[in-house]
Amino acid sequence: MFENLTERLSRTLKNVSGRGRLTDDNIKDTLREVRMALLEADVALPVVREFVKRVKERAVGTEVSKSLTPGQEFIKIVQAELEAVMGEESEGLDLSCQPPAVILMAGLQGAGKTTSVGKLGKLLKERDSKKVLVVSADVYRPAAIKQLETLAGDVGIDFFPSNVEQKPVEIAKAALEHGRLKFYDVVIVDTAGRLHVDEEMMGEIKDVHKTLNPVETLFVVDAMTGQDAANTAKAFNDALPLTGVILTKVDGDARGGAALSVRHITGKPIKFLGIGEKTDALEPFHPNRVASRILGMGDVLSLIEDLERNVDKQEAEKLAKKFKDKKGFDLEDFRSQLQQMKNMGGMMGMLDKLPGMSQLPSDVKDKVDDKVFVQMEAIINSMTKGERAHPELIKGSRKKRIAAGSGTQVQDVNRLLKQFTQMQKMMKKMQKGGMKNMMRQMKGMVPGGGMFPWR
Ligand code: GDP
Ligand code: MG
Repeated sequence: MFENLTERLSRTLKNVSGRGRLTDDNIKDTLREVRMALLEADVALPVVREFVKRVKERAVGTEVSKSLTPGQEFIKIVQAELEAVMGEESEGLDLSCQPPAVILMAGLQGAGKTTSVGKLGKLLKERDSKKVLVVSADVYRPAAIKQLETLAGDVGIDFFPSNVEQKPVEIAKAALEHGRLKFYDVVIVDTAGRLHVDEEMMGEIKDVHKTLNPVETLFVVDAMTGQDAANTAKAFNDALPLTGVILTKVDGDARGGAALSVRHITGKPIKFLGIGEKTDALEPFHPNRVASRILGMGDVLSLIEDLERNVDKQEAEKLAKKFKDKKGFDLEDFRSQLQQMKNMGGMMGMLDKLPGMSQLPSDVKDKVDDKVFVQMEAIINSMTKGERAHPELIKGSRKKRIAAGSGTQVQDVNRLLKQFTQMQKMMKKMQKGGMKNMMRQMKGMVPGGGMFPWR
């Protein structure tokens, strides 16, 4: 959804230059670009104004920390403000009440209400083991009631029948009563939408709301409608005490404006994203992840922070000195790198923070196994000091001895030596810049696995 915004932002944010401090001068052009990018993404104008103002206030005068470039420092601020505009914390449903907890869905026709009822019912059943009943108060289109019945059947939740002869309030009452009698945990009530906000619809859903007294009143809105989404949200929010928003069709080519505007305009959090037509295509909304996605860089910044915190300064200096002494990178250094990587939460911890990695299919992720590090370390531990300093000594019988000593196979030793050689080559390339430069270059090195040449 955010492709264009991401593209524009990442292009412009790189251009912040200067040293030491962020100033009016070195962010002026970039800030203007950010503003244009947001407007183009169909973010509502008042939201854009407020956003740009806050980024500017926060940025000007900010000291750039030593390990970051001004551009990175600026990105950090933009990221934080993006999160803030979307609500910072991820907010789920609050279903704590005397059961059944009633969830009322509201929104325009075609927004994705009925589909979302099915998805949410499935999620509550499977994730939270709730006993879920769904009902349709859409009495204008018989097909709409049938649609919900089919969906409920597909995801294995109970459907409370209704028909077009009934009044929405009657249906709501009957379903609630049934929910109480049969000890349902949750009753989800689907409603009719119109093509536009109109008085009659608002009157009807207000009555249904009064009858049900729901714990959650969710406004369902199509992300593709951009700015309009925010305006419709406002109209519904004025009529009903909404508790949250489901933003649907995020998988389409929406420009992202709705995601950034809805919270600011209604004061209500986005709770879920609809990311496809299938019944499992619903995900809880995390402002921080979406902000990272918009900036197109995973959690690169927190990865940089981890690096700063965990890379042992002395080790790093020793390594840098070694390069100066022209002794080169040996297996001893390789081992200390492996140890540092372990300190940083292992491969999975790091991978999760790299851009694009969150989209990796889980079967690929499963192949990334931290045990590999333990094994690699064991192999190096079984070598003599001389072998570690001069890996070229390690031939046939030495390999066998090392394998036996570390409880591995000769091919594991071979693989480690190959990985080491690749690492050595990479270290040579980085020799010029040292550790600091390596951190600076992190962004350029990922994705594509350049950082872990053996993967
Ligand atoms: P309602 O009128 O608000 O009840 O809307 P529906 O639930 O009937 O959905 C309208 C259309 O949008 C259907 O074709 C759905 O399959 C589609 N739809 C709903 N949610 C999503 C979503 O998150 N992604 C995509 N791609 N399509 C969706
Ligand atoms: Mg519907």
